[in-house]
Amino acid sequence: MELLQDHFSADDIRLISNIPLSDVHQDDIMVWGGEPKGEYSVRSGYRQLIRPMVISSHFTPIFKQLWSVNCPAKIKILAWRFLKNFIPTNQNLYNRRVAHSPICPRCHSYTETIEHTVRDCSFVRAIWNLAGFAWPTDLINECFFDWFCWIFAHSSTTKRLEFLILLWAIWTSRNKLVRNNVKQDESTVVNFSLNYSREITSVSSSLLVPQNPMLANWTRPTEPFVKINVDAAFNASLGRASSGVVVRDSNGLVLGSCFIPTLNVLSPFAAEALAALHGLRFPLDLGCMHVVLESDSLTIISKLRSVVDDLSILRSYIVDARLVSQAFASCQFAFTPRSGNEVAHCLAHLGQDSAVEMFWVEEVPPQASALVQADHRCSERP
Ligand SMILES: [Zn+2]
Repeated sequence: MELLQDHFSADDIRLISNIPLSDVHQDDIMVWGGEPKGEYSVRSGYRQLIRPMVISSHFTPIFKQLWSVNCPAKIKILAWRFLKNFIPTNQNLYNRRVAHSPICPRCHSYTETIEHTVRDCSFVRAIWNLAGFAWPTDLINECFFDWFCWIFAHSSTTKRLEFLILLWAIWTSRNKLVRNNVKQDESTVVNFSLNYSREITSVSSSLLVPQNPMLANWTRPTEPFVKINVDAAFNASLGRASSGVVVRDSNGLVLGSCFIPTLNVLSPFAAEALAALHGLRFPLDLGCMHVVLESDSLTIISKLRSVVDDLSILRSYIVDARLVSQAFASCQFAFTPRSGNEVAHCLAHLGQDSAVEMFWVEEVPPQASALVQADHRCSERP
C-alpha cells in the first residue's frame, strides 16, 4: 500500500486495489472488457463504439424508456434509428445523392421526411386514427423526436408497445410498396400491429408464470451431497462486498453458516464470484466431501461450470474456485432463483454491517433462523 501511495493518485490506488488477485500464480493476459466472457465480439465492439455517443447525448432518458419496452429488439432498434434520423427516407437518400427524388412514394405530394413517412402522410394519419392514437395539433409542426417523446410521455406501457409496433409496421409496409410494389391498406397495417402487440403481451405474461414462488423454493440435496447456498451483497460507493454462505444436508439441517466481508471489490459480479469462492472453502473446513454449490448469479454458475479458460476480469476468482472445487470428491454447480437463496442473501446482508467475518457451526445467526425454518418446511419430502 505504501508503494502505491508513493507512486499513484488516490483514484488510481482505488482502481489498482480493486483488481481481483488469485491465490495461485497466473500469467498476465489481455482480456476484452466488453463481454462477460472476455472474448471480443463485433456486437460488443459496436456497443462500446456507440456508447459514448448515446451517453453524451441529451436524448438518453427517452432511450432508456425505449429499451425498457418489452418487445423484439428489431422493433426497438428501428425506433432508435428513427430518433437518430438513420432512416433511408427518400429525402435522406436524395440529400446523399442516392435517390432521384425526395418525394413520398405513397402520396407523391410531399417530401418524404421521417415526419412525413410515419406521421404526416395522409395514409399514415388514417392508420393512427384507426388505432386510436391522437396528439395535440401543435405537435404537427414538431420534429419526429419531440413527437415521439410526447407519445411516450402520454402512453401506458401497452400503448407504448402498440405505438412502436405501428411505427415498425408503417415503415415495413412503406418498404413493401417501394421494393415489391405491394400496396397494403390502412386496416391491414392496424390489424396486424394490434394483433402482434396482443401476442407479445400474452407471451410475456405467460413467461411470468415460473415466478410462482412454489417453483423456486429451496430444495434439499440428495444424499451424500450437502448443499452450499452462497450470495453476495455489494456496496458500490465503498467497493465493499460481503459473502453469505449456508451449508445444509439432505435432511435440511444446517451444518454451518458464515458471512465474510471483503474490501476493494470491483463490481457486483466480482462480489458474486468471491461469494462462490468463500462458499467452497467453508465446507472443506467442515469436512464435507460431496457438495452442490448453489448461487442466484447465472453468470458465475456458467463460468464455474464451463470447461474453457476464463478470460474475463473475474478470472482470478474463477480459477481459484475451480481449484478449490477439485479438493472435493464431487462438486456440482447449480443456479437457483433468488427466492431459493433467501438464507444466503440474508447472511450476505448481515455481513455488510460487520467489520469482521463470522462463522456458526450447526446454526445460523438469529436473524436468519426463520428463513431456515421456512426452507425446512417447504423442502419436506412427502
Ligand atoms: Zn405522403
